Amino acid sequence: MESAIRVLRDHGLRKTSIRIKVIDLLSSANHAVSQPDLEQQLESEADRVTIYRTLKSLEEKGVVHKILDMAGLSKYALCKDECTDHQHKDEHLHFHCQVCGNIFCLNIPGLPDYNLPAGYSIKQMHLSAEGVCVSCSKG
Ligand SMILES: [Zn+2]
Ligand SMILES: [Zn+2]
Ligand SMILES: [Zn+2]
Repeated sequence: MESAIRVLRDHGLRKTSIRIKVIDLLSSANHAVSQPDLEQQLESEADRVTIYRTLKSLEEKGVVHKILDMAGLSKYALCKDECTDHQHKDEHLHFHCQVCGNIFCLNIPGLPDYNLPAGYSIKQMHLSAEGVCVSCSKG
């Protein structure tokens, strides 16, 4: 709760209970969460439209980022501190588990340093991988 309020303040967003709840849910999940999942968990707090708008404003302000899963469904995860309303800098690996279908934001040290043809410059990287996550590999 404390940290959700800080995140909103740092990104210049007004504190609303639904924003705080969405941030709390995303930070307690260790994987990205879809809008239908959020709707289900916040059923008693807000309707679909409110949750949709909440995610949209959080995404615009650099608080959450959207990842498409293998089925093309949007999932949301909290951004790291470097994201702003001008630019997302989510340069981490999106790991798609082929068993449970969850997406994990994984920090990997050192991004690949590609030698691009002259004239091309990278502003943002989107890295993704598919495999088996830690809880599924235990099973
Ligand atoms: Zn971001
Ligand atoms: Zn898994
Ligand atoms: Zn991510």
